[in-house]
Amino acid sequence: MDYNKMKTLFSTSKKVVLTSHRGPDGDALGSTLGLSKVLKALGHEVEIVLPDAFPDFIAWMPGADEVVIFSEQKDKAAKLINEAEVLFALDYNAPSRIGEVEQYFVAAEGFKIMIDHHINPQEFCDEYISQPEISSTSQLVYEFLEKMAWEDYLSIDGMECLYAGIVTDTGSFRFRSVDVGTHRVASIFMESGMNNAKVHQLLFDNNQASRLRLLGYCLNEKLEIFPENQSAFISLTQEELESFHCSKGDTDGFVNYALSLKGINLAVYFVEQNGLVKLSTRSIGDLAANRICSDLFNGGGHMNAAGGTFEGNLEEAKDYFKKNVFLNLEQYFNK
Ligand code: 5GP
Ligand code: MN
Repeated sequence: MDYNKMKTLFSTSKKVVLTSHRGPDGDALGSTLGLSKVLKALGHEVEIVLPDAFPDFIAWMPGADEVVIFSEQKDKAAKLINEAEVLFALDYNAPSRIGEVEQYFVAAEGFKIMIDHHINPQEFCDEYISQPEISSTSQLVYEFLEKMAWEDYLSIDGMECLYAGIVTDTGSFRFRSVDVGTHRVASIFMESGMNNAKVHQLLFDNNQASRLRLLGYCLNEKLEIFPENQSAFISLTQEELESFHCSKGDTDGFVNYALSLKGINLAVYFVEQNGLVKLSTRSIGDLAANRICSDLFNGGGHMNAAGGTFEGNLEEAKDYFKKNVFLNLEQYFNK
């Protein structure tokens, strides 16, 4: 990243569009909202375009109601991207991660800046911050603000968004990706007066009863444990999801319950989605969930948290996983 070039670029008011990945999570929404607030405070015209809707548990983030959802407002989203002078790609590093937005983003003529923490970035932007070792894009956004000397423009609202991104991407500061920099950023936010307990509460103490009942059902009836393979599955059909009046974002985090089992180092959540099966995998230690997903499920992610898709039904997906992963588990341990 050439920061002098960045400072020149933003020295006059720009039309900016911030984008993030499909199935937006806390880091996707938090990093875009956090950065958008600073850019607005600096006098730029800023919009956020996300490919599809985000789950309820992050909808409290200040400004979330102003996000343009491509799947709901295609023409507006396409026009914004087309007319943007600067575009940000936050929390993804391959254009395929933004679904149908890809064609508009790639064709757009604005200056493109990626800030991301996934491995193997593709080249589709003009400037890059790509640091897979960092906990979250939200942490990287704050470090970017510091490098630009913009951190004083970050409001408490903006801090809450970035903090929520950090919290959700680190399992509340639990994962290996947490470093002193993660806690440094959190402490700066707290010193500035951000109420950290409030953010945790908004994120995790806001469950609908339907979500908890679905979780109970998953743990009671849908959890399959394979101790000899250090693995556990949870799987759900579309009908099961709907019978609990839940939608896909409501199951965020379920996979971590499977991973929390003693002796389990690999957990997979399978869910039917639009005729496909979507997988969420989580692992502990040197077991590379991202290699499993990129080798076998047309996906990717981080070493300990990755995802992908499978063409077929749930049973076929689970069988395929058992055949191709369980029988080759050794191969997926990073040396
Ligand atoms: P989740 O399991 O929460 O959907 O995703 C965990 C991580 O895996 C995400 O941070 C994302 O990086 C990655 N991921 C999830 N689904 C996909 C996918 O379909 N393709 C790729 N390349 N990465 C994915
Ligand atoms: Mn992230």
